[in-house]
Amino acid sequence: MEAIVYLNGEYLPASQAKVSVFDHSFLYGDGCFETIIVRQGRPFRLDEHITRLFRSATVLRIRIPLAPEALAAAVLETVRRNGFQDAYTRITLSRGEGYASADPRLAEKATLVIIAYDLGGHPAERFTSKGPGMRCIIASTRRTPPVCVEPRLKANNYLNQIFARMEAVAAGVDDAIMLDIANFVTETPSRNIFVVRDGKLLTPRAHNVLNGITREVVMDLAQKNGWPVAEADLTAYDLYTADEVLTTSTAGGIKAIVEVDGRPIGNGQKGPITRALGEQYEAMLVS
Ligand code: PMP
Repeated sequence: MEAIVYLNGEYLPASQAKVSVFDHSFLYGDGCFETIIVRQGRPFRLDEHITRLFRSATVLRIRIPLAPEALAAAVLETVRRNGFQDAYTRITLSRGEGYASADPRLAEKATLVIIAYDLGGHPAERFTSKGPGMRCIIASTRRTPPVCVEPRLKANNYLNQIFARMEAVAAGVDDAIMLDIANFVTETPSRNIFVVRDGKLLTPRAHNVLNGITREVVMDLAQKNGWPVAEADLTAYDLYTADEVLTTSTAGGIKAIVEVDGRPIGNGQKGPITRALGEQYEAMLVS
């Protein structure tokens, strides 16, 4: 069966869901998006994702053509029409179709797309907290500073992160850790980072990274477990000397980083706090 896609108010077979070649997200990356995970038919933190999308749209001054509740319903309806139980969904909002000039006034009507993938067919490790842990490098590509493009804006232009990802691929490792222009740790191209030391969790400051929804969940979970959490300016030294380093994301869950720049983290295995948080998080997804 062909996938069903939501496009500007209609549910269409994927082959008929076409976006204009004059669309400003295609031409300039002008827009924003969200990804939401659905487990056993239930979306995880859907309202938080919708709120973040509306905030991104506010910053970009793009009007979302649906109210938040209607947008949430459209996400669920897209999943339902595809018949998926476990899905990865994405809402994409674009400035819309317009004249080929990077002037936002020339695209008057936003384009709104919702797609869903069946997670049933994907290797479990990639989309869950399972797995042994990732080997990483610190990328030479720096995370865009907030004075240029605000990292809390989940924009449709991911070149900054893609450059870092290309470095990881070239180095033959799983992911890349990006520093900011002052040498402080930010995030990987698609995951927030936590450092664990002496039973405490530290994570880069909110203005310097995407305000990850899984990051928030982990901060709450850690506190419930009695592990204090704080935001901090972290450097490569803090990564190399940590007991554990873990990452959080909607798509990948909670994953350990077991090596950074050839240095094993802790004993080089997924640590007990990462393991416990991963198990608790996976249980939350289906509860
Ligand atoms: N940072 C970046 C740059 C991302 O793209 C993502 C994935 N959305 C994350 C962090 C993790 O955020 P979340 O937990 O909301 O998926």
